[in-house]
Amino acid sequence: MSIRLEARQDTSVRFGNARALVCRECRAEQPLGPFYACPDCFGPLEVGYDFPPLTRARIEAGPKNIWRYVDLLPVRPDIAEIPNTQPGFTRLIRADNLARELGIKTLWVKDDSGNPTHSFKDRVVAVALAAARELGLDVLACPSTGNLANAVAAAAARAGIKSVVLIPHDLERPKVVTTAVYGGTLVAVKGNYDDVNRLASEIAGEEPGWAFVNVNVRPYYSEGSKTLGYEVAEQLGWRLPGQVVIPVASGSQLTKVDKGFKELTGLGLVEQSPYRIFGAQAAGCEPVAAAFREGRDVVRPVRPDTIAKSLAIGNPADGPYVLDVARRTGGAVESVTDEEVRAGILLLARTEGIFAETAGGVTVATLRKLVATGQLDPDVETVVFNTGDGLKTLDAVADRVGPAATIEPTYAAFARAAERR
Ligand SMILES: *Cc1c(COP(=O)(O)O)cnc(C)c1O
Ligand SMILES: [Zn+2]
Repeated sequence: MSIRLEARQDTSVRFGNARALVCRECRAEQPLGPFYACPDCFGPLEVGYDFPPLTRARIEAGPKNIWRYVDLLPVRPDIAEIPNTQPGFTRLIRADNLARELGIKTLWVKDDSGNPTHSFKDRVVAVALAAARELGLDVLACPSTGNLANAVAAAAARAGIKSVVLIPHDLERPKVVTTAVYGGTLVAVKGNYDDVNRLASEIAGEEPGWAFVNVNVRPYYSEGSKTLGYEVAEQLGWRLPGQVVIPVASGSQLTKVDKGFKELTGLGLVEQSPYRIFGAQAAGCEPVAAAFREGRDVVRPVRPDTIAKSLAIGNPADGPYVLDVARRTGGAVESVTDEEVRAGILLLARTEGIFAETAGGVTVATLRKLVATGQLDPDVETVVFNTGDGLKTLDAVADRVGPAATIEPTYAAFARAAERR
């Protein structure tokens, strides 16, 4: 017991192999704490590590969830023993039908709809929750476009702590219900996500005891996205894919998959090999894609208007870093119309039996466009991300599909309807 207590006071154990918070702009270091902006230059902070030597075998012996990568995350080593939703290790499936349709040689879908609350957000929230506990913050809060709301409310319920979730008032109904069921405080705000986000920052200032997962513990939260990169590499047999297509909301996920790939290479867990990272946005909220297209470094905020609400962040915090990653790796950031998003959802469902939410429709439609415009090399192995479940955004395709016919319960009626005779 006393050994455990001493361990708790040792920051190097409390946050695993994390060393400090590092400014992404000026590289100045801060101690690990509930900080997200550099006191010198106001740049965003990210977690820096001193990794010990790691082996594939050690990771493979871990649990079948994100905690198999505990040595690469800013969490204590015994995290898996503390109640949490244990997200991750979702399936990577070979998508030959979709590949054929798009004219791509080798294609995989990383299907993150298989997480506990059916989106990739469970990954980031699990890491944020761990950090909140270590920092002594006992309310889990967030502004959300929907999926984060689900993940935060569920994680807090499982951990036995309070949650406060702020959402735009016009969110898809399924995402409201699937948040409210977990209890906690759910507040709908008259405004869009960027309004909700601003309000959350204000509340965070007034409530220092709360962990706003994507505000004051954002540096820890965003590290959870690295696990998507680790998993893809491990599931491919410990190698990096040549091309990846990733949806962009705040841009955190995309930049962290890149960070994850670099860490695996640096640690010798995968061989160094070139990879290109592509970002996907909806045309109705394409601040990063527009900057990429126009060769700008500045990401100009937009007012979102798209059915892809989970990606509808008009002022993306990591937008400039997404541009950096896309340009450095030889990728691109593209956007697709809502009509293409709907077609993307139906295409993935029809070819691979995966029902994606609108964000998945965005990435699949963007993949198709990248091939058609020659930006993505169809001969290079590609992974496309589906980050959420279609059941949460039924309305996107509800009026496009349905029964072939409604018939009397007789074979004759069936035969007529199904054209069997
Ligand atoms: C939040 C979210 C993303 C992207 O997240 P960022 O890290 O903010 O870019 C992608 N897909 C889904 C379904 C999401 O909910
Ligand atoms: Zn700085």
